Amino acid sequence: MAAVTVVFRNTGAQLTPWHAVALTRGPAPPCDFWDPRLSCTDLSTRVADFVRTETLQHIALFDKCKSFTRAREIQAAGLYPYFKPITQSEDTVVVIEGEPRVMMGSNNYLGLTHHPDVLAAAKAALERYGSGCTGSRFLNGTLDLHERLEIELAEFFDKESCLVFSTGYQANLGVISGLVGRGDLVFLDKLDHASIVDGAKMSHGETVRFNHGDLAGLERKLQRVPANTGMMIIVDGVYSMEGDIADLPALIKVAQKYCAALAVDDAHSVGVLGPKGDGTAAHFGVTDEVDLIVGTFSKSLASIGGFAAGSESVIHYLKHHARPMIFTAALPPANTAGVLAALRVLQQEPERRERLWVNTRRLQDGLRGLGFEIGPTETPIIPVLIGPLEKTFLFWRQLFDAGVFTNPVVPPAVPPSQCRLRTSLMATHTAEQIDQALEAFARLGKELGVI
Ligand code: PMP
Repeated sequence: MAAVTVVFRNTGAQLTPWHAVALTRGPAPPCDFWDPRLSCTDLSTRVADFVRTETLQHIALFDKCKSFTRAREIQAAGLYPYFKPITQSEDTVVVIEGEPRVMMGSNNYLGLTHHPDVLAAAKAALERYGSGCTGSRFLNGTLDLHERLEIELAEFFDKESCLVFSTGYQANLGVISGLVGRGDLVFLDKLDHASIVDGAKMSHGETVRFNHGDLAGLERKLQRVPANTGMMIIVDGVYSMEGDIADLPALIKVAQKYCAALAVDDAHSVGVLGPKGDGTAAHFGVTDEVDLIVGTFSKSLASIGGFAAGSESVIHYLKHHARPMIFTAALPPANTAGVLAALRVLQQEPERRERLWVNTRRLQDGLRGLGFEIGPTETPIIPVLIGPLEKTFLFWRQLFDAGVFTNPVVPPAVPPSQCRLRTSLMATHTAEQIDQALEAFARLGKELGVI
């Protein structure tokens, strides 16, 4: 066996001793496998039965995968913060690596993932409709539950109509790519969520980005657009990494002046802002002037899925043109029923939102008081500036060891010297849990020279 050198005709790749070892670990080769009278093509076919083609051919596309070592280096250092499996979850406390940790990195703002009404509704829907819709909303996948949810969401956001998507990501893809066509323009704040950026890429229109919150800059760009061009301005209501709130009243003035549609992604505002938890537009009292409210069910509404709410004609059009809704399976029954129940609890238990804000103030004041830099946040999203990447991962790990789970935010999401730990609060965090986090931040902040 060792005497055979196999050179493959199509690629020139050689069967190395390493491959030979790999072969001996596979199922036993046929007895004539090493017969030197066999052509290389025969061998190639047979070897492919035992060795992945990737190891035999040079596939240029995969070169980057083999040279991608950064994540493995961080793993080897024991500082890798991603894909940590949760083995149990009790609302604000999760078990990871066998230990309970206070969850300070979730978007479960109202703590509804474990609410009895939500769980009961999801279980009942599972029994009544089964485990999945196995098809698109457009064809066999629409349930009466989807329609009920759309009616209640439209009422809640004070819009004529609503369309449910299978994720918030797809809602942004669908709204932007469905409406912004060839010759149209879509204006994005530079800190808009990735799903907005991807929706703009997917559309056939042109994307124009303006600096975060720079409405004078936006206006300069709008001035250059010929009259009667189709235009959409789309912003996050609450920015997902910074926690600041879009200035909707000022945006509305600009949008109206240039006849642009205004869409707001309320992923982080639903259940958080507004007199009923009904989002950023309601918070500013400008619901009628915002054309489209887009959002997700994966945060305050404690599930997965997304929606767009707006005028009847726009939603009707999206129903027939939003490919990310048409060409994917519908939101499963248990999730749809869970969201409906969560939407009702959100309205019936306003004290949850009040509690969320009490917790938000406690953590914001505590961190600022300790001397941490938390930026312009005005909401339960509280990013804590740490600095360089290595220190951020070290800080993350030590917080994790102290029983507090947060999310690191590193390049390309932020500049290399501005890495941060993103904390986010829930209505159901106790004062003791927040104080535990503050104590850990205070100790580690001093030890690692952040404060
Ligand atoms: N928009 C924003 C602002 C978000 O933060 C997110 C999720 N992080 C999404 C959209 C996508 O939501 P989903 O998780 O439902 O896909």
